[in-house]
Amino acid sequence: MPPIEYLSRSPGLGLPNGPYDFRKEIVESTVLSRRAGNYSIGYTPPMGAGFVPKIVGGSDEDLQQELLQQLDIAARRGYDKFVFKYVNSPEERFEHECLNYHSFQQQLDNKQHPQPPAGTKLSCPDRVCELFFQHTNDK
Ligand SMILES: [Zn+2]
Repeated sequence: MPPIEYLSRSPGLGLPNGPYDFRKEIVESTVLSRRAGNYSIGYTPPMGAGFVPKIVGGSDEDLQQELLQQLDIAARRGYDKFVFKYVNSPEERFEHECLNYHSFQQQLDNKQHPQPPAGTKLSCPDRVCELFFQHTNDK
């Protein structure tokens, strides 16, 4: 039995572009370079539609380059789809990445919490997470 994973259509992730096949030429022709954005990489289950997110991330510099760097690891794990959106600010990228990270944490390969934009001290918008951070910071 495959693991039961939450099947999300891309609106659930808030990433309206896709799912697209996760291949180099598709990324290069679909995602503009030097644009900031959020993405998720995953797969479509064999028996139907939908998109199963396995990796969530974002880039404040170049979403296209970030995605291209994930091609090898995705291929090894059998992830063949991706979804994305562009953002207007690093803050927007960080907040969206945090929400996706917490919403799908149990099924994601991501081991580390999303990083705030360089030079900022933004805190995660997830309330439970914020408490956790305060708790760990107190030690
Ligand atoms: Zn968090």
